[in-house]
Amino acid sequence: MIRFDNVTMVYDKKARPALDSVSIEIERGEFAFLVGPSGSGKSTFLRLVLREDRATAGAVFVAGQNVAKLSSWRVPRLRRGIGVVFQDFRLLPQKTVFANVAFAMQVIGKNRSVIRETVPEVLKTVGLEGMGHRMPHELSGGEQQRVAIARAVVNRPGILLADEPTGNLDPTTSQGIMQVLDKINQNGTTVVMATHDDDIVNSMRKRVIELGAGRVLRDEAKALYTSMM
Ligand code: ADP
Ligand code: ADP
Repeated sequence: MIRFDNVTMVYDKKARPALDSVSIEIERGEFAFLVGPSGSGKSTFLRLVLREDRATAGAVFVAGQNVAKLSSWRVPRLRRGIGVVFQDFRLLPQKTVFANVAFAMQVIGKNRSVIRETVPEVLKTVGLEGMGHRMPHELSGGEQQRVAIARAVVNRPGILLADEPTGNLDPTTSQGIMQVLDKINQNGTTVVMATHDDDIVNSMRKRVIELGAGRVLRDEAKALYTSMM
């Protein structure tokens, strides 16, 4: 589903590359954690998948397509197939929960009847059944993140990218978010989650891809946050 073939990303020619000859393959339906300290290249990895940047060398394939070769009018279609969740939720503060999720369908031209049917279903999937009328500020952080996940997956993307999705949440709330991401993964979506959260990684026992200074230091199935345990 996602393949990096010897990918190098140089932002600043005087600094080391943000990614340095990275080769990774993530299969359709996998759940993978991307771990490593700040500056190790996690965000760069996610940006290259979304084609927010183009690699300096090597190739990035998403669903079989070399994303660097997509003409600019095809990039929106690539991104439609990829849901994204951030640490800071990024909800529209003046819209209800329902409208926040509906918005993602409106922008791709889904009709009202489909939206009215689909939004309650996805709210139920993320554990927010019956909360469509609430405003974001009336929700806890964990609930806001569930709304953000609902919005990210409502158009059934093949891939969900999560960039530190539990970074603003307490451990118990974070575990609830992980259950939601696990459920979405079990429904067939490939999930890639960048995180520093060792407790979360250790509790999930999923694939761990560890980056350090732009290189892949470790890539293990059913792994822990650190290898020496
Ligand atoms: P992480 O997400 O793991 O914190 P990043 O991918 O953000 O790591 O950063 C990897 C390296 O690339 C860092 O050295 C960072 O300073 C550098 N970098 C990231 N984005 C840019 C940019 N837009 N311009 C210049 N350098 C960048
Ligand atoms: P906007 O503010 O962007 O116009 P709306 O609030 O009208 O968005 O929401 C878009 C669609 O969702 C409309 O079809 C609307 O009827 C429906 N909708 C909005 N909020 C709710 C809700 N709480 N329960 C059921 N349907 C809703």
